[in-house]
Amino acid sequence: AGSASEQTVETISKRDALLERCHQARQLSEHQKRLFHKLCDLLLERNQQVNLTAIRTVSDVYEKHFGDSLRLIDVIDQLPIHAEQHESTRDKDAGLRLLDLGSGCGFPGLALAIARPSWQLVLLDSTRKKCDWLREARSALQLSNVVVEWDRAELAGHRPEMRECFDLVVARAVARLPVLAELALPFVRVGGFFLAPKEYIGRELPSSGAEWSELASAMHAIKLNGGLYERTVPMAPSLVQGDQTPAVLSRSRVVVLVRKQNKTPKAYPRAPGRPQAKPL
Ligand code: SAM
Repeated sequence: AGSASEQTVETISKRDALLERCHQARQLSEHQKRLFHKLCDLLLERNQQVNLTAIRTVSDVYEKHFGDSLRLIDVIDQLPIHAEQHESTRDKDAGLRLLDLGSGCGFPGLALAIARPSWQLVLLDSTRKKCDWLREARSALQLSNVVVEWDRAELAGHRPEMRECFDLVVARAVARLPVLAELALPFVRVGGFFLAPKEYIGRELPSSGAEWSELASAMHAIKLNGGLYERTVPMAPSLVQGDQTPAVLSRSRVVVLVRKQNKTPKAYPRAPGRPQAKPL
């Protein structure tokens, strides 16, 4: 058996290899890579005491949490919010303001915070133990661009320091689109975007909402909350797989993009539980 330090070197290079397979990971500095490795260890350790995620293996953490979060960066980088955002803020160096709604064990929020230190991330969750974990991770990784908020979206969406304050709102695996639209759009500033990563099952991507029932049923809620459905974009596979491109879409990860066109009327979001019980 090798010495402890040889084993550590071996573990780190295996972890680096896992991270290298994720999109965007090639642009990470050594420091950022170390933060991802530390986050993986912390998450798996804490997950043995508190149920935070169903993902329990190292390779799944890299692929399903880190990879899935990092590939959103390509989509975000192409949104027409960056220049506008810099013009409108007094501090030209200030980054994008992002809300991760229903952040849970921290994805995509924590991964985006590590990969893009200039972005300001607010991680919102209604579950106390999830927020305790998010705060622990924030401190352990010294992520000064992260703020954790323990609240329900239905209430936080009416708080003046949260309402219509974000350039982007992202929500992964939180609710179906008709519900999400009402929870998320009140946080987005006019001109900003709401992004929902979703799994789409079908041979071709929907070119309009009418071709996808979850999206079709969300159109009313999107409009009522001041949104305008833009498009659904395919996400790159979370892992780099040579030059292989899927010829036929059957089950694919997509991002639904909604632009905030008008202010959200004061009535939304409705009281806690209402958006879920009676979607708009
Ligand atoms: N986004 C993470 C991910 O993809 O790994 C977590 C997904 S988890 C299935 C959904 C999370 O959303 C839970 O942590 C739950 O507490 C939170 N959540 C659900 N409804 C919420 C609401 N109305 N306001 C705030 N958080 C909510």
